[in-house]
Amino acid sequence: MNKLGRVMDEAIKRNSNEPEFLQAVKEVLESLEPVAEKYPEYIEAGIFDRIIEPERQIIFRVPWVNDQGKVIVNRGFRVQFNSAIGPYKGGLRFHPSVNVGIIKFLGFEQIFKNSLTGLPLGGGKGGSDFDPKGKSDGEVMRFCQSFMFELSRHIGENTDIPAGDIGVGGREIGYMFGMYKKMRNEFTGVLTGKGLNFGGSLARTEATGYGLCYFMDEAMTSIKGKSFKDSTVVISGSGNVAIYATQKAQELGGKVVALSDSTGYIYDEDGIKLETVRQIKEVERKRISEYVKYHKNAQYIEGCSGIWSIKCDIALPCATQNELDEKAAKILVENGCFAVGEGANMPSTPEAVEIFLENDVVFGPGKAANAGGVATSGLEMSQNSMRYSWTFEEVDAKLKQIMIDIYKNASTAASEFGFDNNLVIGANIAGFMKVAQAMKAQGVAY
Ligand code: NDP
Repeated sequence: MNKLGRVMDEAIKRNSNEPEFLQAVKEVLESLEPVAEKYPEYIEAGIFDRIIEPERQIIFRVPWVNDQGKVIVNRGFRVQFNSAIGPYKGGLRFHPSVNVGIIKFLGFEQIFKNSLTGLPLGGGKGGSDFDPKGKSDGEVMRFCQSFMFELSRHIGENTDIPAGDIGVGGREIGYMFGMYKKMRNEFTGVLTGKGLNFGGSLARTEATGYGLCYFMDEAMTSIKGKSFKDSTVVISGSGNVAIYATQKAQELGGKVVALSDSTGYIYDEDGIKLETVRQIKEVERKRISEYVKYHKNAQYIEGCSGIWSIKCDIALPCATQNELDEKAAKILVENGCFAVGEGANMPSTPEAVEIFLENDVVFGPGKAANAGGVATSGLEMSQNSMRYSWTFEEVDAKLKQIMIDIYKNASTAASEFGFDNNLVIGANIAGFMKVAQAMKAQGVAY
């Protein structure tokens, strides 16, 4: 019996022009059917209806002046989705594809992800259709300052604490933090992902990629008795998540043979030389195609989707949403891939996820597998509140334990409802339960 069909119908009616948001809601509601069956009190309390509607969404104008003196107008967003278990928390994305539907899908996913970390963090997300690519540091700074001028009205260390995402790294966080501090005349942990000498946490930069590998290692060992050791790994993207996933996968004994960016991918059968990638992407901010200039045996192929046709044991999509479709999933399975871990948010289409689950591929959904970033942001908030810094090893050990616990909680929830090893259902249920209980306890206040 379908108890949540009405909620989904309502979501479709209200958000018909937001396909990514509806995709995320559909996946979660389908997973929660057995919960609705077992706990009818959540239906009566309107939890499902409420959890898919943001508490608040803010859209604002971001005017700035480019290097030629021309006024440019971008659009800024912050969706404060759910604060039942803690202040809103989630990244900012700067990318031309950003619109309210994308931010809503990300904010919605964030509710469950943050709950899974075990930390007191609500869900939110924001960003802009600003494209940092090809912009000078001065242009990026002026944009970030204008963006923060408005955003600062809506955030705060106890209200909403943004972080980075696509197009927002240490440089952008620094510019935004500087502007917030100037406007408020207070030094607080209002953003995470800050520089180490102004309140940032050691291991935050590495956390999402490292956490992904810790999660997948635990899942692969528990479910299949396999690990990164001596496995061939394909990773998409070459940004923050992909770079540190590559580093950790290599440390754990895997051979990473491919990485990509939004124009194409590189294949190096001898194993990717990460220092070259970091120089190209983090320092020079150039295209991944430059890699083949340094390593003559490597190949560059234009276009991104072909990366999944490379034979591998483990695939880690770490670029963007819906980058891995049904066709790609079939090829991965045919080539013997036994594990897929989502470093990006919703990188696999629903059809691709179906293929993985049907073929017993160990599948780590993004909201569980990439939660290490926000978990370490939570640890950064704790350190800021204490005015104290833990060592890299201390943060890394906490991160690893959090990822292992997330796996165990998702796995236990899946088994409890009769879906052994289905971490999609398990993560959605485990993330939901804590938030639902808090919302019910707090009444219909929001
Ligand atoms: P970055 O901006 O550092 O890197 C993004 C990478 O993905 C770049 O290599 C970029 O290529 C590529 N990319 C972006 N858009 C597309 C596209 N449309 N098609 C193909 N490739 C694309 O971002 P992050 O590494 O921080 O984020 C990557 C993913 O991980 C996102 O889904 C994000 O939401 C998710 N995530 C990030 C977390 C974090 O802590 N940073 C935490 C949890 C999830 P190019 O260089 O050409 O732009």
